[in-house]
Amino acid sequence: MSIRFDAIVIGTGQAGPSLAARLSQAGMKVAVIERGKFGGTCVNTGCIPTKTLVASAYAAHLARRAAEYGVEIGGPLQVDMKRVKARKDEVSGRSNAGVEKWMDGLTNATVYRGHGRFESARTVRVNGELLEADKIFINVGGRALMPPMPGLDQVPYFTNSGIMDVDFLPEHLIIVGGSYIGLEFAQMYRRFGSKVTIVEKGAHLIAREDEDVSKAIEEILRGENIQIRLNAECISARKEGDRIVVGLDCADPIRRVEGSHLLLAVGRVPNTGDLGLDKAGVETDSAGYIKVDDQLRTSAAGIWALGDCNRKGAFTHTSYNDYEIVAANLLDNDPRRVSDRIATYGLFIDPPLGRAGMTAAEVKASGRKALIATRPMTRVARAVEKGETQGFMKVVVEAETKQILGAAILGVTGDEVIHLLLDAMYAKAPYTTISRAMHIHPTVSELIPTLLQSLEPLA
Ligand SMILES: Cc1cc2nc3c(=O)[nH]c(=O)nc-3n(C[C@H](O)[C@H](O)[C@H](O)COP(=O)(O)OP(=O)(O)OC[C@H]3O[C@@H](n4cnc5c(N)ncnc54)[C@H](O)[C@@H]3O)c2cc1C
Repeated sequence: MSIRFDAIVIGTGQAGPSLAARLSQAGMKVAVIERGKFGGTCVNTGCIPTKTLVASAYAAHLARRAAEYGVEIGGPLQVDMKRVKARKDEVSGRSNAGVEKWMDGLTNATVYRGHGRFESARTVRVNGELLEADKIFINVGGRALMPPMPGLDQVPYFTNSGIMDVDFLPEHLIIVGGSYIGLEFAQMYRRFGSKVTIVEKGAHLIAREDEDVSKAIEEILRGENIQIRLNAECISARKEGDRIVVGLDCADPIRRVEGSHLLLAVGRVPNTGDLGLDKAGVETDSAGYIKVDDQLRTSAAGIWALGDCNRKGAFTHTSYNDYEIVAANLLDNDPRRVSDRIATYGLFIDPPLGRAGMTAAEVKASGRKALIATRPMTRVARAVEKGETQGFMKVVVEAETKQILGAAILGVTGDEVIHLLLDAMYAKAPYTTISRAMHIHPTVSELIPTLLQSLEPLA
């Protein structure tokens, strides 16, 4: 016997809870299934805890620089890792409890704490009970990828989840993976006081960015004495006494790094292998991501996939936008689509990188005629006043339409200022709308009109 619902939501990441709430408000009888911590990755082991830790690291960094601002600390700086972790746990825990309470309090909804698995396209089993619905929404997210690294089974290591329990200072943290997650942890732990080495397979950090952005980030990190080992084509690990040795080149044992702790940050995999998708007729790609159309319908009628598991995005905002698309289509008669959105994301090192749209390299490869402008943060008054002048801003505009194609703002408040350009892109406004606008002095945003007044052909 099955228990009948109108809708089943599997997973409470960044799409599931809001969708469950909308569906229940619309009068549907909803089942919500969560096997782990409510709120998923972002709340428990991703954005919220990491950005809370980044804030502690920033405080330590600024305190070290206090004398530059005429402020005397009056003694050596101490970072109390137990208090850093307690603050992180408090912020993240509040959010996790908030999502759980929200779900438990929904009218028309039943919350199941357990692993959900399809038995057919209409049924999901959880804790021995069989739930049935005509509409099923998958929001199961992802987890850290375990690379096929020789020796990994011989050494202890952290992923983004395990490192959340650290309440001590690693003497030397080796981070395998020089992309977004790895770089945030690298700078944060360096600022807490650890030695840090980033080991990256490629020739650049965050390889999908333009080379000037990637190089500037490398310079910022090297400037804080973070060691960066690029071109590590064959990475291995082993224990030597109580040390961890990471080999960078399987043919050359001399190329190695020795540290006290290891963090793996080499990518993510979707949590789809144990969902019984085959029983439901839901197709995946070769990496296990669920195939969806532009409105997030899977190959099985009545089943949708939202968030990181559908490969349409890998961010909290893309997952939340997935919820909005599905809710708009189902409940508001509004045919919103994934292809309506513009790629955007941040890298939350200090200073942060805010990105929107295409990179300059992508624009060049597309063959469009375009204009580009760049400006170093040393020429932004607010950055100078704050003593935070690292980085630069850059924007690429289509010559014919005058519309903004993409932008990167690596600099103080770059993660906020980018939205000004992003919203102009959504409005499909010509760049002259911004270049003629008057902005507040002194702000970083004030220089965006000036930046746009200095466009030159993109060579
Ligand atoms: C270290 C780190 C930092 C990040 N920082 C940022 C950032 O700054 N900004 C940003 O936009 N993004 C960031 N992200 C990415 C962001 O966390 C995810 O994109 C976001 O959480 C969206 O995930 P989701 O909604 O797909 O599902 P998730 O948040 O992964 O949640 C999925 C949920 O489904 C549950 N589940 C899985 N399988 C089942 C099952 N079979 N039955 C029941 N429940 C199940 C899981 O327990 C989990 O609670 C970061 C990620 C990491 C790892």
